[in-house]
Amino acid sequence: MTETILLDMDGVVLEGPGTPQPVYDRAADAAAAELGLEPTDRQRADLRSHGYETVESTCSTLDADPREFWRRKEAAASRLAAERIRSGERGIYEDVAALESLAERASLALVSNNRHETARYVADFLPVPFADARGREPTPEGFERRKPDPHLLRETLEELGVEAGLYVGDRETDVVAARKVGLEAAYLRRSHNADAAVPEGATYELEGLDELLEVLEAPEDR
Ligand SMILES: [Mg+2]
Repeated sequence: MTETILLDMDGVVLEGPGTPQPVYDRAADAAAAELGLEPTDRQRADLRSHGYETVESTCSTLDADPREFWRRKEAAASRLAAERIRSGERGIYEDVAALESLAERASLALVSNNRHETARYVADFLPVPFADARGREPTPEGFERRKPDPHLLRETLEELGVEAGLYVGDRETDVVAARKVGLEAAYLRRSHNADAAVPEGATYELEGLDELLEVLEAPEDR
């Protein structure tokens, strides 16, 4: 029986596959304003983009510290994400309620490519006793270590002091990352991945988080 269940956050707990681009656009604009930058339209578009190299070269043109800009953009995105969750603009999947009874029988943790601050916020926001919540650090290096890099999963296993368990995600990269650290992987169906092929290496395919209760009861040698 699996006693440790790690869960991806976007598309598993939070509705929708990820943070929409307008949130990052606003976050980049906020960071630029905080630093007193006056980018052209083209530069603003580059500051809003996801890759660090573009941000770095644009910041150097504007005579700004790219790491400081990055940190502020991530902080602003975390504030905006929290507001959206608190207001209900970004919903929580209904079957997250099943995690409350699951937590009585297994240790649960959130492991997300999203920002660490947002993962912590969601863990505190939900009435589920998560043993840990982990997301990317607000640095370019943290951004590079997103799944399928297994870094965040490995850190969580170390924090929990376990070596085995199950990771639940809605993307192939979740399955790949889980397998790299020896975890079983559950591929969760949501409306945004309803037609995708089951990724190679997935141990389970789930139609909802409530099915995790059956997984807990499954015999060890399946
Ligand atoms: Mg996801």
